[in-house]
Amino acid sequence: MTRQVNTIVIANINLCFFSSKERRGIVKAFKKKLLIGALSAMVCCSFTYEAEAASYQGATNQAKDITKQDDFKTISGNKHTAVDYLVFVNKTHKLPDDYEAKLPLITVKNSFGREFQIEPETYRHFEQLRTVLKQKGIQIELDSVYRSVARQKEIAAEFTQKYGADYVKKYVAVPGYSEHHTGLAVDICLVVDGKIIDDNDEMIAQKEIFAQIHPLLTEYGFILRYPQGKDNITGYSYEPWHFRYVGKETAKKINDAGLTMEEYMK
Ligand SMILES: [Zn+2]
Repeated sequence: MTRQVNTIVIANINLCFFSSKERRGIVKAFKKKLLIGALSAMVCCSFTYEAEAASYQGATNQAKDITKQDDFKTISGNKHTAVDYLVFVNKTHKLPDDYEAKLPLITVKNSFGREFQIEPETYRHFEQLRTVLKQKGIQIELDSVYRSVARQKEIAAEFTQKYGADYVKKYVAVPGYSEHHTGLAVDICLVVDGKIIDDNDEMIAQKEIFAQIHPLLTEYGFILRYPQGKDNITGYSYEPWHFRYVGKETAKKINDAGLTMEEYMK
């Protein structure tokens, strides 16, 4: 896959687990560390692995033409059980310890054949959104979805061993504090004129497309989790690609009131 090209930069670390944005963030952060040493603490203090705010410049032109898009196919899954769709996770709110054990997950593929695990209702609504957008000539694809706390711990351990605790503190999300643990958070990428757009800066530049996507989110139970200008409340920079499923009713309430999830959950 084109997205895995960059993993070679930091060999011996399996970055396949990360989304392309996250991989680039890690690679870029690591390169910065090597190049500018102590200055990186100042320059890159906002570059956490989870923040997905970093982009890897070299990957800008990695996207390949996509000639044919196959529909998503559910390839395996388990039974639906009760899910707390209002589970609240951010940099200061930890995922409840018993959440994952009760989380139903299905395994799905995006149009490029990449597999993801996702909560079933979240996926069902994502697919509805994707279909509606497709009819409008806009193609969205899954880029990063569920990430287990256990895997996050492994990543933190691997990186601590390789790069030290300071590095991990700066660039790797603390296990338990990522919304991607919930199975209800979706990072998308775009396909524009047959090319994958997944670079953070390029995504943010697609203002016209996101202006068509974002107003539809609530109808399918999603909110834009990290809106523009709310960094001080959410703890994250603007991420037009990160959608959080909360259910239609809640999504409308949050959206109509112009709130972030942080404000709504107070
Ligand atoms: Zn995300």
